[in-house]
Amino acid sequence: MNYTEIMVRYGELSTKGRNRRIFISQLAHNVKKSLHEFEEVKIHSDRDRMHLELNGADSEKVMSHLSSIFGIQSFSPVIKIEKDTDVICETAVEMVKEIWEKGQTFKVQSRRSDKQFVWDSNDMNREVGAAIYHGIPGIEVKMIKPDIRVDVEVRREAAYLSCLTLQGPGGLPVGSSGKGMLMLSGGIDSPVAGYLAMKRGLEIEAVHFFSPPYTSEKALHKAKDLTVKLTPYVGSIKFITVPFTEIQEEIKASVPSGYWMTITRRFMLRLTDLIREKRYALAIINGESLGQVASQTMHSMVAINEVTTTPIIRPVVTMDKNEIIEIAETIDTFELAIQPFEDCCTIFAPPEPKTRPKLEKVLQYESRLDVEGMIERAMAGLVVEEIKSSDDFLNASTKEMDDLF
Ligand code: ATP
Ligand code: MG
Repeated sequence: MNYTEIMVRYGELSTKGRNRRIFISQLAHNVKKSLHEFEEVKIHSDRDRMHLELNGADSEKVMSHLSSIFGIQSFSPVIKIEKDTDVICETAVEMVKEIWEKGQTFKVQSRRSDKQFVWDSNDMNREVGAAIYHGIPGIEVKMIKPDIRVDVEVRREAAYLSCLTLQGPGGLPVGSSGKGMLMLSGGIDSPVAGYLAMKRGLEIEAVHFFSPPYTSEKALHKAKDLTVKLTPYVGSIKFITVPFTEIQEEIKASVPSGYWMTITRRFMLRLTDLIREKRYALAIINGESLGQVASQTMHSMVAINEVTTTPIIRPVVTMDKNEIIEIAETIDTFELAIQPFEDCCTIFAPPEPKTRPKLEKVLQYESRLDVEGMIERAMAGLVVEEIKSSDDFLNASTKEMDDLF
């Protein structure tokens, strides 16, 4: 079918009152960015709907982009035709024929905003319905919950037909809630946390702590590839590598092992917060899940969180591992996350981390360290990169190795 436009229905943002305009223009901006390769597509937004005029662009390809743009509830390919009763009926039959499967039912739902048009909406329902009924042998009419609903709308300038509604991802347009720094390890939880934060409108930048030579280049590439998996929702994501070796070595040398984890996490959080400030973000996002490991008991969270008052968003905090894995599978990060490249935490994991660390002890042990100097040196070594959907780090590095031998 030669669709001429895609009609986009907004999700929750239609209920946002005064902020609605901001939400709609953010969504239009995100759609435009996602469709940058289709220069011919023109976007018109109004209060209730967004219309993407295709001007010859392939509707299937355009629609495949829309299914990953947050803020879109659903969308329908539409064909714009002349306001002629024969043309309307013929096109409706052709359109339904293309998607109809044996046994499916239909109904026609018409609207006429052009009151001069020869048919009113009842006539249209009847006439277009009859054309489809006679044009497709075996098709039945069903008024309540039909399989196919044919929407016919006659406006002043033309008639519009559509019979397909596809689900968008819902949520809020990325960027409409500001920006947050995602603490991204190479694990299962943090990419899911990043995805869920974006779904609620947060733009994200990834912060990754890297401890060479204890952690391999592969672990870093894995974290970058996980970031690649999150780009379809935004186009590109900034990835910030923080050198973490000195901090981990110092902690290991001066702090009793039961407190390594708590103090390491406090350093991660301090650094992420500083990076957040530098990059004008408002929040920190991580993949902590209550009770999952020693660092994620309520007592640990209190001791770790003490270093900042910045809001920390923990999208998976109340989820069971199974629930997190289910999302990781849908966003295709699971297989990658379970690849066995150790990250910095696994290597410096103490035999018995405290699950109820005491803040006085934490402060006492930290006073043995040159906290400021360690932070300053780590901040001096930040590397900021932009990750795009076409990037592929693990495969590229394996290929490079193969080429060497
Ligand atoms: P994940 O599956 O996300 O690695 P996890 O269950 O393994 O989480 P932890 O290793 O305790 O849990 O990490 C808790 C959170 O701390 C992670 O979800 C992530 O947000 C952050 N984090 C841990 N390690 C790193 C790292 N190397 N770089 C950046 N953030 C990290
Ligand atoms: Mg981890």
